[in-house]
Amino acid sequence: MKTPAATERTAGDPELAWRVLGLLNLYRLVVPSVLVALALLAARFQLLAASPALFTAVAGLVGLAIGSFLNVVIHRLPLVLERQWRARAAELEGRQPAAPTEAYGLVRPRSRCPACQAPIRAVHNVPVVSWLLLHGRCAACGAPISARYPLVELATGAAFAVVAWHFGFGMAAVLGCVFTAYLVALTGIDLDRQLLPDILTVPLLWIGLIASAWFGAGEAPPPAVLGDAVIGAVAGYGFLWLVFHLFRLITGKEGMGYGDFKLFAAIGAWLGWQMLPLVLLLAAFVGAAVGIALMAAHRLGRSVPIPFGPYLAGAAWIALLWGPGLVERYLRFAGLG
Ligand SMILES: [Zn+2]
Repeated sequence: MKTPAATERTAGDPELAWRVLGLLNLYRLVVPSVLVALALLAARFQLLAASPALFTAVAGLVGLAIGSFLNVVIHRLPLVLERQWRARAAELEGRQPAAPTEAYGLVRPRSRCPACQAPIRAVHNVPVVSWLLLHGRCAACGAPISARYPLVELATGAAFAVVAWHFGFGMAAVLGCVFTAYLVALTGIDLDRQLLPDILTVPLLWIGLIASAWFGAGEAPPPAVLGDAVIGAVAGYGFLWLVFHLFRLITGKEGMGYGDFKLFAAIGAWLGWQMLPLVLLLAAFVGAAVGIALMAAHRLGRSVPIPFGPYLAGAAWIALLWGPGLVERYLRFAGLG
């Protein structure tokens, strides 16, 4: 534990790199706003439409900033939900709920170092760069900061860039990035907590359906044609629900959670029912491979729960980009297309 004086000293760190970052006055919310404003300006002048490379680069930078926000969502959303559940449980049991200590949400309080509680300064919060410059340590107390934060930022930035490059400038790329951001958040929370919160899966489902109603023009998703999206949502939920109950009848165990049904329904709404078999196949394939590797590495028992959400999310992202091509090739191969 360091004294506030130590924090002050670090705050005045004259290191050149920090000065440069400080001058740029980068901040988690300022950077995306500026980038979006730039993107709108560039779009106004058809710059992004004319230059796929520029569009990809802007999407990658926006992805880095969104990834930084997704880190907060992954870390805090389960805690916020836990507080709500605890308060409701207390209410139902007629207990006096624990007095709310301080407001706790996605925006407030400001991020703090988990080790020394020092607030994290804006310049120390620049995606990836800050973590590298700080050598993965807290600026105030030197406690190690998990490499997971820059990795989530990098992964989101790279995924946004791939989506932008793949779809080119337009609504499909914007929707693809929205879908990607939700998948990253759901993957992180499911890995941490074996939980796919309704507050993420249900809006994802609705955004997919509404995008289909507004923009579904019969081209490759996103968005899917409205009819395909509605059938996809119903079939996605229904199929996993059926598998869940059959599995429980036969083995007496619960193989997955209701969150998985809702995520699969959302994937159906986004990509159309045609992609669901492919997504399930990819998820099961990767899931089995990773599961076997984990069991071999850690000698885990077979009944250790491995969350299914990350595999569904990964498979859905692959299907978003290459699904139509894969399905078409398969149908032609099978003599059906
Ligand atoms: Zn610290």
